[in-house]
Amino acid sequence: MKSVNSSADLEALLRSVGLRPTPQRMALGWLLFGKGKRHTTAEKLHLEATVAGLPVSKATVYNTLNQFTDAGVLRQLAFDGSKSFFDTNTSTHHHFFIEGENVLIDIANDDLALGRIPAPPEGYEITRIEVVIRLRKRTLLQRIRTSDQAQPKPFPAARHRNPRLEFIRSSQSSGLAQAQNAKNSR
Ligand SMILES: [Zn+2]
Repeated sequence: MKSVNSSADLEALLRSVGLRPTPQRMALGWLLFGKGKRHTTAEKLHLEATVAGLPVSKATVYNTLNQFTDAGVLRQLAFDGSKSFFDTNTSTHHHFFIEGENVLIDIANDDLALGRIPAPPEGYEITRIEVVIRLRKRTLLQRIRTSDQAQPKPFPAARHRNPRLEFIRSSQSSGLAQAQNAKNSR
């Protein structure tokens, strides 16, 4: 999808897929596409529209999202049965899904390698493969445990050498260096 930076861009996008740029499509389209790649739900978009002072009903939001999806400028992703997300990034890509927060994060195609892909059932072909990696926040206890493991190791034994001995050693070696220098300058 080309980035939408102005209402002219949006109008061109809608016209390119055969959608008439009605005021409602333009207003909702701007909320959707004016912020680059993003994921949203009908409820979220309706709330955004309300906050922006757009007098649209939930039904209009649903209809518009479905029209955009049918036209191919949006992709619908379903999770957990009823939860439907709309993605302005219509290219094939993968997602992290944060359970409980209902948040989707894009995973670039290059960041995920697929190993073995099963053969599709007789008479079918694979249209695309999209992976959803489900996440949940680690509990506080888990985080504390991991940070314990990440603590630096105790000082190595060498650090506990007798400082007096260290001093003697270094002065010996510097004395030697001095003697060497004196020899060279002769
Ligand atoms: Zn996405």
